[in-house]
Amino acid sequence: MPIPLDDDHRALADAVAGLAARYAPLEKTRAAFADLAVGKTPDVWGELVATGLHALHLPEHHGGSAAGLTELAVVAEQLGNALVPGPWLPTVITSSVLAALPTEGPVAGLLDEFGAGATGAVVAGPGLVATTADAGWTVAGTSGPVLGLPGADRVIVRADLGGEPLWFHLTPSGAEVDIADGVDLTRPVGMLRLDGHVVEPGAMLPAPDADRLDLVVNALLAAEAAGVCSWALHTAVEYVRNRVQFDRPIGSFQAVQHKAAMMLVRTETACAAAWDAARAAEQPADQQRLAAAQAALTALPAGVDVAYECVTLLGGVGFTWEHDAHLYWRRAVGIASAAGPEDGWARRLGDAALTGTRDYSFVGEQALPELRARVAAVLDEAVALPDDAVRSDGWAPERGGSRRARLAETGLVAPHYPAPYGLGAGPEEQAVIADEFARRGFAQPTTVIGEWVLPTLLVHGTEEQRQRFIGPTLRGEIVWCQLFSEPGAGSDLASLVTRARKVEGGWSLSGQKVWTSMAHEADWAVCLARTDRDVPKHRGLSYFLVDMRSEGVDVRPLRQATGRSEFNEVFLDDVFVPDACLVAEPGDGWRLAVTTLSNERLNMGATLSHGSAARVRELIESGRCAAQRDDAIRVLGHNTGREMALSALNLRSVLGRMSNLDVGAEISVQKVFSAIAQRDGSRALVSLLGPAGTTLDGGHVVDYIGLPAVLFGGGTIEIQLNVIAQRVLGLPR
Ligand SMILES: Cc1cc2nc3c(=O)[nH]c(=O)nc-3n(C[C@H](O)[C@H](O)[C@H](O)COP(=O)(O)OP(=O)(O)OC[C@H]3O[C@@H](n4cnc5c(N)ncnc54)[C@H](O)[C@@H]3O)c2cc1C
Repeated sequence: MPIPLDDDHRALADAVAGLAARYAPLEKTRAAFADLAVGKTPDVWGELVATGLHALHLPEHHGGSAAGLTELAVVAEQLGNALVPGPWLPTVITSSVLAALPTEGPVAGLLDEFGAGATGAVVAGPGLVATTADAGWTVAGTSGPVLGLPGADRVIVRADLGGEPLWFHLTPSGAEVDIADGVDLTRPVGMLRLDGHVVEPGAMLPAPDADRLDLVVNALLAAEAAGVCSWALHTAVEYVRNRVQFDRPIGSFQAVQHKAAMMLVRTETACAAAWDAARAAEQPADQQRLAAAQAALTALPAGVDVAYECVTLLGGVGFTWEHDAHLYWRRAVGIASAAGPEDGWARRLGDAALTGTRDYSFVGEQALPELRARVAAVLDEAVALPDDAVRSDGWAPERGGSRRARLAETGLVAPHYPAPYGLGAGPEEQAVIADEFARRGFAQPTTVIGEWVLPTLLVHGTEEQRQRFIGPTLRGEIVWCQLFSEPGAGSDLASLVTRARKVEGGWSLSGQKVWTSMAHEADWAVCLARTDRDVPKHRGLSYFLVDMRSEGVDVRPLRQATGRSEFNEVFLDDVFVPDACLVAEPGDGWRLAVTTLSNERLNMGATLSHGSAARVRELIESGRCAAQRDDAIRVLGHNTGREMALSALNLRSVLGRMSNLDVGAEISVQKVFSAIAQRDGSRALVSLLGPAGTTLDGGHVVDYIGLPAVLFGGGTIEIQLNVIAQRVLGLPR
């Protein structure tokens, strides 16, 4: 899903893609490498100016359209995807910086020039030193390499004046710019060399806001990186679908499929990070700081890695000069380098995360006031009731209690269910409800396994089944477990052999289930069993509701790697299940076992249960961290970055759903990304403990050992990657 989430942005993206295809085909760009390296503007620049895409963000009275950073990011993504050459990116960064300054002194005149099509660059790195002179300042020194400097009409410069920044503008002469051999062959790079350059007071500029400057630069670089990722992914997928080796398309090999699937995961996260940075433009400085660092940390390395994977999946042809893959790879390396070292952004994100968190709420306090008031009244009333629920010390949900009953009766346990069980709440309503719970520090109740049993009953159950099970489950009177996996049927669930034999008035179930979470506490189970052995394996399964207290059910707890016992073996020996407890028809089991995505509960929080930023922060603040503070803050930055990427993916899929976009791919991507983030984040957290990690004190190591409990839900990472490769990318089996 590219950056645009609404029709206007999609139309803008289509227009830019069309313009790029017409005026900047890659053969033309290749023929102009020498001119581009010295800063000559390509023809496409004239077209970008003619259509106003160079000045989208400028005020109308300076020749612009008063659009925001998100619109610029939409354009940047498409220009990155088409590898459009020339000065667009450095120019819009320069004019964005100017547009955020007070329009005194030279600023208004400069903005007029940019509105009319001047090109620009910002020289903000170290190397230039200012000294006070009679009528102003003189500046000497050489800057580092600057993207778009050769050929720029106007340059904004920062020099060091005794530890303070001095900002000014200049119109560089050819003699002041050393042209470098750029890695990206489609854009010039150069160093500004000044030798006693006199800065008149009239050339002085107010200092730009540092957070805003970082945000604009990183959001636009990240958007370009997302465009590069998307080209690289599509090029690689197209190639591996058709290239045959060992008598098969190479896209049918699992190693290739998993690489392609990970390219999609990285592409989606790059896009989400760029989008999130762009939307921060109208938010406070702490939010901008977090979003800018996250864009640099997530999207820019993704651009490099995904472009590199494209080259490797293309084999030898990908390494040829003639193939365009290396041009994209070069662009990705160029923009990642321009942003500065990745480690530095991890450090900055860690610093920002010590005191702040990114806000992913998408409904304002004023939204849906009637619903908000209604929910607030119920919650205030519920808080006043005795908290008499019974809680398990394992994974089972809380049982009963008067508060829970009140929440269930008012539709607040599962507000996304239709009446009478829920409120039929869409994303916006769910967000308002979640907000009201959070304000009271009140956790939204969960039915755990019931979360996917009940939607199945809502869609496929009989009215009698719905009435019998849904209300009591929401009230916490029924706890469910799921009898699916068997010793011989794990990832390949459809190969299960537990048998259901038709008997008078019902079915008799016999077989062995395994890894059944909460079976020792559950009242009821959903159970997949084979009712027909003579049809292909997916078609012979049926879906039963089994009373766990039935005769013939034998639950034997298993001890996990953590030392705790939360899952079990379950033996079924001639267990009678009445006809009324078969859901849908015999043979419908597989269809029912596939969870309906549309019924998934909104997960806006997206904090990770393992390796969360909050835990790393707590470790740093408590002084229990064995690592140097700088190293620990970098770990905090990386863990925060993963968490933010997941939240941004979540928020985009919610907003996408609200705009009726197909977000199927998003869900699989979130599952893989979340599993990897929990794994890597939790491992990094343990690494901060030092020798304290030899003990179980503090819970972090036992949490890490318990990782499989969260990683296997809904299928292992490998199975999710298979799903992405085959069902989302359409690679052959
Ligand atoms: C804590 C916990 C709780 C659980 N709770 C329940 C529960 O309540 N109810 C229930 O029914 N089940 C439950 N499970 C079982 C869980 O769904 C299975 O463990 C999971 O589906 C994997 O099956 P398996 O363990 O047999 O591993 P296998 O399927 O044998 O897989 C072993 C390894 O091989 C890989 N692999 C297998 N097939 C492929 C393939 N085609 N391509 C690539 N790699 C492959 C897997 O990714 C994995 O790394 C639970 C598991 C755990 C760990």
